[in-house]
Amino acid sequence: MISENVDNYIIDTGAQFLSSGYPILASLIKELKIKSKFVPTSPYCGIVKNGRIHTFRYDNPFSLLFSGLLTFKEWLLFGIKSKKIYNQTRLLSTNDYSAWHQFDNKNCFEWSREFYGETITEYLIEPMLEAFYFQKPEETSKALSIALNKIGYEKSKAMTTEGGISLLPAKLSEKLQIVYNSQVTDISCNSKNITVKTVDQEYKAKKVILATPAPIAGKLFKHTNEIEKALLATSYSSTVNISIGLKKRLVGEKTAKIYGIWIPRHERKNIAAITIESNKNKDRALTGELLNIMVSGAAGEKMLHSEKEEILKSIVDELNLFFPDIKQHISFSKITRWPYAEPMSSVGRSKSIQEYRSKTTPQSNIFLAGDYMGMPFTEGAAETGKWAASQIITA
Ligand SMILES: Cc1cc2nc3c(=O)[nH]c(=O)nc-3n(C[C@H](O)[C@H](O)[C@H](O)COP(=O)(O)OP(=O)(O)OC[C@H]3O[C@@H](n4cnc5c(N)ncnc54)[C@H](O)[C@@H]3O)c2cc1C
Repeated sequence: MISENVDNYIIDTGAQFLSSGYPILASLIKELKIKSKFVPTSPYCGIVKNGRIHTFRYDNPFSLLFSGLLTFKEWLLFGIKSKKIYNQTRLLSTNDYSAWHQFDNKNCFEWSREFYGETITEYLIEPMLEAFYFQKPEETSKALSIALNKIGYEKSKAMTTEGGISLLPAKLSEKLQIVYNSQVTDISCNSKNITVKTVDQEYKAKKVILATPAPIAGKLFKHTNEIEKALLATSYSSTVNISIGLKKRLVGEKTAKIYGIWIPRHERKNIAAITIESNKNKDRALTGELLNIMVSGAAGEKMLHSEKEEILKSIVDELNLFFPDIKQHISFSKITRWPYAEPMSSVGRSKSIQEYRSKTTPQSNIFLAGDYMGMPFTEGAAETGKWAASQIITA
C-alpha cells in the first residue's frame, strides 16, 4: 500500500482501493481516527466488448442489463446463479481464504464455463481475475471466484482514503515500533530463542510472524514442515502499473464518471485495467487527470524487463482505442514494476492454508502471514496477521 506524490498528483502505485466489506481494515481505520477520510470511489465502471466501453454502476444490477454487455438471458442467468452460489456460502468469511477449502477442487475456467457459460466467463470473470489478481481463470481456483461472488453480492463499496492509500499504513506505523531499510537476511531457531539477523543487527525473540512474500519467506525460513514448504512455494503473478498524467480532464461522455475499466482477453493486447483516478477521489488529480494502467499477468511478466519507452509505446497505442489522441495530452508517466504482484490462487492453496491452520498450534515459534497465506488482497493479508497474533496471544 504505497502512495507517491508526483507534481501534485497522488499515485497509488500498488494496491488501488479498499472495500467497505473489509472488516479488519475498517476497524483499524476507525481505531486510528481516520474514518472521515475513508470515502467511496465513483460506483461507475466499464467493461469493453466489441471495442466499446459498456458502462454500469457496480451497485445497481439493472444498470448492468442496460449497459448492453450481456443479453437479457445472460443477465438473468448471472443473477439467478450468483444468488444460488451466494446462498450456499453466506456464512463463510470473505477475508479468511482457508474457510473456502470445500470449493478448492477445480479451476475457475472449467467451473465457470459449466456454471455460467462462455460470455459471463469471458466478459465478467476473466477480466475481474486479470484486473485484480493478474491471473487467468485457468490458473485460478474456483474457490477464489466463489468468494469474490459473495463480496460482490453483499454490495460492498469500493473505498479509498483521502491523501492516498498509504494513509492507513502511515497512521498504523505511528503506533508501532518499526525499523526501516533494515533487510532481514536470516532467521534461525534453537530450543530457547529465534534469532532474526538483519544487515546490521541481530534480534532475539520467542515468537516471530514472518510476513514477507512467499519467495522471500522461503529463503529466510529453512526448517519447515511439508505443509509450510508447500505454502512457501506459492508462485506470484507479475504486473506493471503505468501511471499517466494528463494535462486536462477527460470529458468524453463514456468515461466522465467511470473509476475502473476492465478489458477482457478477447479485447486486450496488454492492458487488464485502467483507472481514472479523479473518479477515485478528486485529490488524486487536482488539475488534469491521472490514469493508472495495470497490465495482465502475461504482459506483466514480459514488461518486468522492458525499457520504459517500449512499455509506454505499447500502452499508449492501446489506450488510443478508448481515448483518441491521448498522446498529445500526456504530461508525465511513471512505471512501477511488481515482480511479486499477487499470490497465485491455484487449486489447492485454500486447502493448504486450512491444513496449516489446523496443524499450527500456539506453541509454534514462527508463524507465516501475508496475502499468500490468505485472501490475495490487503484485507486478506491483515486477516493472516491477526490470526498469527491471536496464536501468540493464546500462547
Ligand atoms: C498493482 C497492484 C494492485 C493491487 N490492488 C489491490 C487493491 O486494489 N485492493 C487490495 O486490497 N489489494 C490490492 N493489491 C494486493 C495488495 O497490495 C497485497 O495483497 C497486500 O499488499 C499484501 O500485503 P502483505 O503484507 O502480505 O505484503 P506486502 O504489502 O508486500 O508487505 C511485505 C513487506 O515485507 C517487506 N520485506 C520484504 N522482504 C523483506 C526482508 N528481507 N526484510 C524485511 N522486510 C522485508 C517489504 O518491504 C514489504 O513492506 C494489489 C497489488 C498490486 C501489486
